[in-house]
Amino acid sequence: MFTSTEIADDLLNAESFGEEEYPLMEDFYTIQGEGAHTGKAAYFIRTAGCDVNCWWCDVKESWDEDAHPRVAVEEIVRRARESGAPMAVITGGEPLLHDLDPLTYRLREAGLSVHIETSGSSPLSGYLDWITLSPKRFKEPVEEIFPYVDELKVVVLRQKDIEWAEKNADKCPDDTTLLLQPEWDTPSSMELIVDYVKKNPKWGISLQTHKFLGVR
Ligand code: SF4
Repeated sequence: MFTSTEIADDLLNAESFGEEEYPLMEDFYTIQGEGAHTGKAAYFIRTAGCDVNCWWCDVKESWDEDAHPRVAVEEIVRRARESGAPMAVITGGEPLLHDLDPLTYRLREAGLSVHIETSGSSPLSGYLDWITLSPKRFKEPVEEIFPYVDELKVVVLRQKDIEWAEKNADKCPDDTTLLLQPEWDTPSSMELIVDYVKKNPKWGISLQTHKFLGVR
């Protein structure tokens, strides 16, 4: 598990966790559709705000932090706990634009395992059971995140994205799950990935199965 600060400091600060607020685009109970935990029930928490600017982004409405309400940690955790989900997935937007210590501390305290999906382009924070790094060339990951990456998931549109994936994989721990994911609106990316994974089986394929299932 990644923790962002010294344990002693955390215990001192933890008492106040719960009053903080996060800009929240949406939160909902669903099925994790992508990556190593595909098919598992999860409470999704989509924070607002992103400064990465991927042109193919399918959640552009998340970019403007001020367009979304700020919601208290206590309220977000209450909803997640009452959903019955065993795990929370914090996504965005770019969730690491925010200090995730308070939210993740309280989620873990409520009994959920805490996952994050991030571009890694801002400093790492939080009490995290699983870190999925989805690096973007538009704003590269900070170096400090690489030792903690559990899953590297790279969106592929064309060949140079595979080169980008390998460059990032070189920085991750040996036991990191390596996944290539076709960009939904670029069908040619699928053929590219299938060929590549057959020749380089350390990689697997991640599909956006929630789009097939018709869930969010
Ligand atoms: S990092 Fe994610 S939310 Fe931000 S622009 Fe890229 S795809 Fe969209």
